Amino acid sequence: MKMYGKESSEYIYGLSGSDEVTDGLCRLLFERGAAFVGFSDISRVRENHGYKACVTVGFRLFDGIMRDIKKGPTFEYFHHYRTVNYALDQMTLAGATYLNRSGFDSLAIPASQSSDSDPFRGAFSHKTGARLSGAGFIGKNALFISRDFGSKVRLASILTAKDFDFSGELCAENCGGCTVCTKACPAGAIYGVNYTEGADVKDMVDVAKCSAHMKSAYKDIGRGAVCGICIGVCPRNGL
Ligand code: SF4
Ligand code: SF4
Repeated sequence: MKMYGKESSEYIYGLSGSDEVTDGLCRLLFERGAAFVGFSDISRVRENHGYKACVTVGFRLFDGIMRDIKKGPTFEYFHHYRTVNYALDQMTLAGATYLNRSGFDSLAIPASQSSDSDPFRGAFSHKTGARLSGAGFIGKNALFISRDFGSKVRLASILTAKDFDFSGELCAENCGGCTVCTKACPAGAIYGVNYTEGADVKDMVDVAKCSAHMKSAYKDIGRGAVCGICIGVCPRNGL
């Protein structure tokens, strides 16, 4: 991990070295609001769409929003969620355009868009790219936990044919004995197991229970598509 620029909230993960195009990409993403950028080798990831590298873009969710969702979603959280997804999509669109113009075939993966065949999956798992960059780990809530920002992040990805000088260092941390999100989940959907390599979200969370609870309890907020309790209560957020 190395720091980039002057702001202490801007981090780069997953690189041992850089080059002009990589520096330009990071500058572009940080100028547009990214809190961190992670680089990972995805040549062995099943859903890599034929690309060898993933550039993960992380946005730090606002503390003032996250503090208020420990007992349930708010209208402000739903708005923040959608606005941040849009901002991330703008960042990855600009980043992929920059890489394409630099001669590297690249694709922006939407921050939040599930596939027709599985409502719990997108075209590429942002969490996988982020974890492989060493930016953090998968929590017991099956969500990405940033080593520096906790669970208060949202992610998007750029897949690219560009090669990078990958460090390949993973984050060695996990949730340990913490049970906070397991106890806080109103649906009892979190099994409370630490992530192990290759585990699927369905091995960690009863996604049907989670979805059913959101639809029944919060249909007036975010059309039943957001909850956020297991994000808001995470002690790694420092709130
Ligand atoms: S989003 Fe809500 S219902 Fe779903 S696992 Fe997290 S706390 Fe439970
Ligand atoms: S609340 Fe605890 S168990 Fe859940 S994701 Fe955060 S650190 Fe892990």
